[in-house]
Amino acid sequence: ALERYASIRDTECVTACGARVNLHMNAGLMADLPSLDNSGAEGVGLFRTELQFLIRNQMPKRNELAALYARVLDASGGKRVVFRTLDIGSDKVLPYMKPNDEPNPALGWRAIRVGLDKPGVLRMQLQALLRAAKGRPLSIMFPFVAQLDEFRAARAEMDKAIARETRLGHQLPERIEVGTMLETPSLAYAPDGFFREVDFISIGGNDLKQFFFAADRENERVRRRYDTLNTSFLTFLERVVMRCEEAGTPLSFCGEDAGRPIEALCLAAIGLRSLSMRAPSIGPVKHLMLRSNLDEVREVILEARAQDAQSVRPAVMEYLRGAG
Ligand code: PEP
Ligand code: MG
Repeated sequence: ALERYASIRDTECVTACGARVNLHMNAGLMADLPSLDNSGAEGVGLFRTELQFLIRNQMPKRNELAALYARVLDASGGKRVVFRTLDIGSDKVLPYMKPNDEPNPALGWRAIRVGLDKPGVLRMQLQALLRAAKGRPLSIMFPFVAQLDEFRAARAEMDKAIARETRLGHQLPERIEVGTMLETPSLAYAPDGFFREVDFISIGGNDLKQFFFAADRENERVRRRYDTLNTSFLTFLERVVMRCEEAGTPLSFCGEDAGRPIEALCLAAIGLRSLSMRAPSIGPVKHLMLRSNLDEVREVILEARAQDAQSVRPAVMEYLRGAG
């Protein structure tokens, strides 16, 4: 199987019905970078910057971070890398930060909420990213934004950081795009302006699913209770696809489900044409995409929904067995 995937590594991911699906990888550590070449990933759709903070005993310094991010960009060889700003709290606790005692950490003070309330670290990180990317493109994404104003406030921090670099006479990135994760159901119902103001959106399926079904992603008893291919969840995702299409906002999906071939296929069938996953999943996902007809899969999904199916999985599996 590994050889089979190696043989399609450089093949463009175009489905049998002619749809182009972009496959990116998730990363966070320097050790992940060689996979960018080995896996055939078109870029890094999610660079989890918190991992660099989690493996240290103390808060990294700005220059250290800037050097690190520059190395990531060097290693990317011009492929797009989406840096997600620090996503801490909930399941990710920094050893050198006072843990806060919260009854529901997943619903608590985490990610961009921390970044906006105590902006010191966010500012330092934005500056490090701006310096690392001088003269080349920079993509930044904020985690766990739940409403338009949070995105605006985070973007204002970015604008301030840019102004500061300019004042200091530092060279800026060639261009900067600022996007957000969509991890809370609330954003699917955000004002139209939200979709116009963000440069791109990436659905964080892990968190989104946990909040959609109110089922803790860390709790073994409930973690797998609700299928990602549940018709309600797919209908919800379609709504996000639709709103992004209306506003012309680039959309991708970067939760673990993007790396599961059947899930990836269904996501592509409902219009998610950019997926970011663990590097080893790219081969298997591409293998299935190359021989699939998304229009047919979409029909199967619609039909299962018309039949009141709770999940489209059985119907899709049956279709795939039939398709050979
Ligand atoms: C997600 O929530 O789907 C996601 C990609 O982010 P993380 O798994 O790091 O929370
Ligand atoms: Mg998340």
